[in-house]
Amino acid sequence: MTIKFAERTNNMEGSAIRELLEITQRPEVISFAGGMPAPELFPVEEMIEVSRKVLEENGRVAMQYSTTEGYTPLREHLAKRMNDKLNTNVSAEEILVTNGSQQCLDFIGKIFLDKDDIVLCESPSYLGAINAFNAYQPKFIDVPTDENGMIMEELEKILKENDKVKFIYVIPDFQNPSGRTWPLERREKFMEIINKYEIPVAEDNPYGELRFEGEDLPSLKSMDTKGLVMFLGTLSKILCPGYRIGWVVASPEILAKLNVVKQAADLQASTISQMEMSKFFDIFDVDAHVEKLREVYGHRRTVMMDAMKEYFPESVKWTYPNGGLFTWVILPEGIDATVLQKEKALPHNVAFVPGEPFFPNGGHTNTFRMNYSNMPDEKIVEGIKLLGMAIKEAIADL
Ligand code: PMP
Repeated sequence: MTIKFAERTNNMEGSAIRELLEITQRPEVISFAGGMPAPELFPVEEMIEVSRKVLEENGRVAMQYSTTEGYTPLREHLAKRMNDKLNTNVSAEEILVTNGSQQCLDFIGKIFLDKDDIVLCESPSYLGAINAFNAYQPKFIDVPTDENGMIMEELEKILKENDKVKFIYVIPDFQNPSGRTWPLERREKFMEIINKYEIPVAEDNPYGELRFEGEDLPSLKSMDTKGLVMFLGTLSKILCPGYRIGWVVASPEILAKLNVVKQAADLQASTISQMEMSKFFDIFDVDAHVEKLREVYGHRRTVMMDAMKEYFPESVKWTYPNGGLFTWVILPEGIDATVLQKEKALPHNVAFVPGEPFFPNGGHTNTFRMNYSNMPDEKIVEGIKLLGMAIKEAIADL
């Protein structure tokens, strides 16, 4: 029997990271693969208090259906936080709460993409976004990048030559997977270009608050004068991913479309998750919590960078992130990171994510992504040492 699936499923692939999860969760494996926040920093005790309060004070509302837009007090907290941190001028009415920002990536694909439309993204880009958009059968053009993110001359060249670009997907702050951040001049130039071509932009910003050093930079949304930028936020990395609270800020026209697809997909985000997160903002100091994350992740970043310097061969290059959860490693040409992982790293019980799936059109097999937020210092050092050995073996085999 042949089951006839929709054509769009031919493009769909499971996430390379999720497929690795089974291996990386084995206790003997030192995993730099997932993008997981450190569970020891989750505010568990605080959430016990919060959930008790929500249920005692308002249990029957918390367990009920609620509006698609989201729980208004939470939307007010999110708008205020954005305005305080990101230089925006957002009101609660401009926010739609989603089931993590991942859901909004799917919705953006759904409202913008017909088959063979073009999506632009950074090269490399977040593989979860590539997978989400892929369901709508677009063509991707990945815009070349350097150490300061997307190269604006290349972007302009691509826009000049292609009239089917529907939107541009970018992560200007501590990008997943590269750890790179766009400086101010790039952001300004980017806005100038998108205003000229009037192309919608999805600005995905899960990591912006996790800055270890340097000055905060204005979000693209804060520079948006034409309502072209959709800003995607999430509580996954500053509080915890399990409640699945993300949000999008967009112009009324775009927000109305997103609202309709949200209704059709799942009616609304979880009422109780939203009320608990809102209560957390009411009674606890979110800034103090984020400060703690910055300290721990910043320290782990430094531990990883120092260990790489000590144990990786000179021909290997990597990025130095000033925030976020990831660094990006470039191996000498000819070494395939997928083969390295399978034949050399996993046998030594070390895991990372090979880079190829982060490129929508493939290639760049000599790259991989490393996460530093989820392992204690001694495991980071031990893992990098083992990985250094694995890479040296692979270079010797060349
Ligand atoms: N965008 C980026 C760039 C991410 O790294 C992630 C999580 N890994 C997401 C979106 C999705 O996060 P969530 O759905 O938990 O908000």
